[in-house]
Amino acid sequence: MSRKYNFNPGPSTLPLPVLEKVRDELLDYQGTGMSIVESSHRGPEYKQIHERAVDLIGELLELPAGYRVLFLGGGATMQFSMVPLNFLWGERFCSFTVTGAWAKKALGYAHKAGRVELAFDGAADGYTSLPDAAGLEVDSGSAYLHLTSNETIGGLQWQSWPGCGEVPMVCDMSSDILSRPVPAERFGLIYAGAQKNLGPAGVTLVIISPEMLERCNPDLTAYLSYTQQAAKNAPINTPPVFAVYMLELVLEHLKEQGGVQVAEKRSRERADLLYSAIDESGGFYRSPVARDSRSKMNVVFRLPTEELEQKFIAGAAERNMVGLKGHRSVGGLRASIYNAMPVEGASLLADFMRDFAAANG
Ligand code: PMP
Repeated sequence: MSRKYNFNPGPSTLPLPVLEKVRDELLDYQGTGMSIVESSHRGPEYKQIHERAVDLIGELLELPAGYRVLFLGGGATMQFSMVPLNFLWGERFCSFTVTGAWAKKALGYAHKAGRVELAFDGAADGYTSLPDAAGLEVDSGSAYLHLTSNETIGGLQWQSWPGCGEVPMVCDMSSDILSRPVPAERFGLIYAGAQKNLGPAGVTLVIISPEMLERCNPDLTAYLSYTQQAAKNAPINTPPVFAVYMLELVLEHLKEQGGVQVAEKRSRERADLLYSAIDESGGFYRSPVARDSRSKMNVVFRLPTEELEQKFIAGAAERNMVGLKGHRSVGGLRASIYNAMPVEGASLLADFMRDFAAANG
C-alpha cells in the first residue's frame, strides 16, 4: 500500500505506528479473546485505558493538581453550548475574542445562552490578524474570556496568551492541542475535538480547573454539567470507547517521541518549510494572514487564479499529496500539518510548490 501524505484539516492523518497497533489488536485485545470495541466500558480493560489517557493528558500538558480531564461526546461543537450553559447563569456574562469562523460559531452559541462582550473582533480586516495579546482589555467582572487558539479555516494561531487578571481563559484548542506547551494554570477550561492532534473523531477532550468546577450552574442535567461529569471517577454514560482507546495510543506515541517540546519543534520545521515556499515565490503564492498570526497547523494560501489552484491540487494528488483544498467558505488552498504529518511530507509539498511556481509563474 502506498500511504498518502494527508493534509486534510480533520479528521486528519494519524501516526502510522498507532494505526498498525490498532490493526494488530483489533480482534483480540491483549489476549482477552475480544476486541476492545466489544468490551464493557465498566470492565478493567477499558477502565485502565481511560485512566491512563487521563494521566497522559495531565503529564503531557503539565496540568496543575486538581485539574480534571473528561472525555465527552458531541465534538467541540457541544462545548460551544456546554461552556455558556455552565458559566453564564444568573447575571453572569462572558468576553469573547472573535478571530475567525470557529470563534464566530462559538460566539453564536454563547449569545443564545447569555450576555457576551467582545474583547476583540477581527471583522474589520477579514479575520487575517490577531490582536496584541498583552494589550487585550477584558472586563474584570467577566465569567471567562473565550479564545480559539488556532483558527483551522483562516489559518491564524495565537502566539502568546492575554494576561486578563482574575478572569479565567476558556480556550478551544481543537486544532493545535499538544502541538506546543501551554501555561495550563492560566486556563479555566480547555476543550478540543480529537480529530486533529488527538485521535479519531468521536471524543472531545475537556480540561477544567477546580475553581471553574465550583462555578457551574447547579441546575443542569447530569450530562451537561461539568461538575457532575467530574464528580465521579467513572464516566456518567458510555464513553466513546474506541475513540478513547485510539486517543490513548496517540498520547503514548507522543510521549515516546518526546512530548510537546518535540511536537513544537517539528511543527515549526513543517511550517517554516511551507511559509518559506510562499514567501520566496515572488508573489506567486500569497498568504492572507499577517505574519505574526500565522498558524503552524493550517497553512492557508492562494495562487494567482482559481484555475491554477485546481491544477495545483491535481498535480499534488499525482505526487501522493491529498487534502489541500481550502475550506469551501474561503476557497484557496490549505495544508494542515498536524502532529502526525511527517516533516518529510511538508518538505515534499514545499518542493512541489517551488516546481509548480517555476512551471506556471
Ligand atoms: N473548533 C475548531 C477550531 C475546529 O477546527 C472545529 C472543527 N474543525 C470545531 C471547533 C468543531 O469541532 P467538531 O466538529 O468536533 O464539533
